[in-house]
Amino acid sequence: MPYNYDDENIFAKLLRGEIPCNKVLETEHSLAFHDINPAAPKHVLVIPKGSYVTYDHFAQIASSEEITDFVRAIGEVCKILEVEPSQGGGGFRAISNSGEAGLQEVPHLHVHILGGRNLGPMISKS
Ligand code: AMP
Repeated sequence: MPYNYDDENIFAKLLRGEIPCNKVLETEHSLAFHDINPAAPKHVLVIPKGSYVTYDHFAQIASSEEITDFVRAIGEVCKILEVEPSQGGGGFRAISNSGEAGLQEVPHLHVHILGGRNLGPMISKS
């Protein structure tokens, strides 16, 4: 099924400046901001500025520049949050919920960066 990007999703509005965000980092192709309902002491969302619905959508059609920018932005956010294991941080989890089974709420690609506590098992077994 082709991807239909909904211009009215909340992150599209946020990118257009129609609603505010608590910004952590902005690069040419990416934006990172604090999750409004944090699930861990450190919880930041990283999104591409382009109109991509899910991770696989982005992986299929984003330009190399966008992909490099996005991956590096995630790395930079880990640095800002001081969660990098290699730098004495406590570690983190990067999650991108996609589609129905992934329980994706906002249909604009986002990667959650979570840290600041032991995050427990990766998924519930139920
Ligand atoms: P997901 O279930 O992976 O689609 O997660 C969507 C995330 O977006 C949730 O963790 C929400 O708390 C977060 N969220 C929704 N609206 C906003 C907003 N305006 N600013 C920051 N985070 C938001």
